[in-house]
Amino acid sequence: MDNSNSNSSAPAALSPYADNLLIQNNLSRSKDRFKPLNSPYVGLYVCGPTVYSNVHLGNVRTFLTFDVIYRYLCQLGYNVRYVRNITDVGHLVGDADEGEDKIGKMARLQNLEPMEIVQRYTNDFHDVMRMFNILPPSIEPTATGHIIEQIEMIEAIMKNGFAYQAGGSVYFDVRKYAEQHDYGTLSGRKIDDLRSATRDLDGQSDKRDPLDFALWKEANETHLMRWPSPWSIGFPGWHLECSVMSTKYLGKSFDIHGGGMDLKFPHHECEIAQNVGAYGDETPPVGYWVHGNMLTVNGRKMSKSEGNGFTPDELISGNHKLLERGYSPMTVRFFMLQGHYAGTLDFSNAALQAAEKGLTRLMAAWSAIEGLAAIDVATATAAPGVAAAGEIDVESLRNRCYAAMNDDFNTPILIATLYDGVKWINSAKDGRLAITVEQKSGLADLFNTFAKDVMGLSFEDGSTGADDDRTDGLMALICDMRASAKSDKNWAMADEIRDQLAAIGVQIKDGKDGATWTFD
Ligand SMILES: [Zn+2]
Repeated sequence: MDNSNSNSSAPAALSPYADNLLIQNNLSRSKDRFKPLNSPYVGLYVCGPTVYSNVHLGNVRTFLTFDVIYRYLCQLGYNVRYVRNITDVGHLVGDADEGEDKIGKMARLQNLEPMEIVQRYTNDFHDVMRMFNILPPSIEPTATGHIIEQIEMIEAIMKNGFAYQAGGSVYFDVRKYAEQHDYGTLSGRKIDDLRSATRDLDGQSDKRDPLDFALWKEANETHLMRWPSPWSIGFPGWHLECSVMSTKYLGKSFDIHGGGMDLKFPHHECEIAQNVGAYGDETPPVGYWVHGNMLTVNGRKMSKSEGNGFTPDELISGNHKLLERGYSPMTVRFFMLQGHYAGTLDFSNAALQAAEKGLTRLMAAWSAIEGLAAIDVATATAAPGVAAAGEIDVESLRNRCYAAMNDDFNTPILIATLYDGVKWINSAKDGRLAITVEQKSGLADLFNTFAKDVMGLSFEDGSTGADDDRTDGLMALICDMRASAKSDKNWAMADEIRDQLAAIGVQIKDGKDGATWTFD
């Protein structure tokens, strides 16, 4: 893989903690030590959304999982090229090989151009990602932007004898492939079991075998999205785009491939077959396969048909029959991080309210660090009734935070570990524990690293009462200063204060009972 120029900035030194990162690799079915092909560069590919409807919360969990993985790899000093695609063609209703394109169908129902549907829901997706503080990837390629490359990959697979043309369509020949390679390495499925579980074709398709999957489909004239190819005017199969876009930007072998658990079979299995079918198997296409688990609601799978799937907007407004009230995006983010990504996570009002309390406690302690009165040396005698600063061991806390993340990105353990820091901060704040200047800055650094950079937590308006009180206090002080400037007839100063505040979005209004203020 040559991605040595993946980032213009010089690679930062790798953290010593990078040597001990273990990842649950669903290809080897074991927790493997992470060794990138070309350290300090890391290639990460994640299957993105099919943009034909609003993102639901299960998708948010998947993208949050890989956001934290991406953030942590960067924290370790890796230079990560993160590719997350947008599926804007080829994904058919029911994930099948026959039928209507999901985006084409929505365009027909709403009487819009397919690209209007794509744009609308891509915008929605980006809004939702921003709302939950999920970082954008390095590259966000689209399937429609890579039709030529998809045609080239089909040609390579055909040349190697693993695909055949039937009418104007091209199918991957699973049986032929399985004669020379392992089909089912990722999902653990056996080709004969798959065969007996599959219905016969009944003349419904031009495939030779029901296990074969489409690389190219001929489209009739009613099909809205179609392109010329050597075989017909048509469109690419859904699995193909990820093989094409991952290898184009990350190389024929790359480090980590992620996606939701539901994509493991057939989508990811087909990706492996396509990559090996086109490029051979001297090196495995992907080193580490990582899958995020699903969300359940009160113990039941979240789905549209069950009527228990919320959109992010509904969750925040509380406007859904299963929600007692709304929850802030950071509460939802924190709630999701309280579960390990590989396990299912159950949504309930009680769990969200507990997460909200936990987050408030964590954020309040984090924001209190700055105001702690610190002493100079750990050995300085503490006042009677105050524990000595030696009780605070920031170094060991930092080691435990890294150990949690190095154990397959275990965010629940990381959060539990950070609460030990919260206890120290609260004791120091209450005057029960002495804290040195060094310990204070160590804790500030630790919270910045793990709460902000790794977990992506940020302060929201009104998320801590302390922040609101502080803003009110500051504004009262500024209004008083302006009032005294006016009573001194220092109009220039009074106007200056008003204008400077307006420039940062704070409006001052003078009334009979003095000035009031509002945010824009
Ligand atoms: Zn994919």
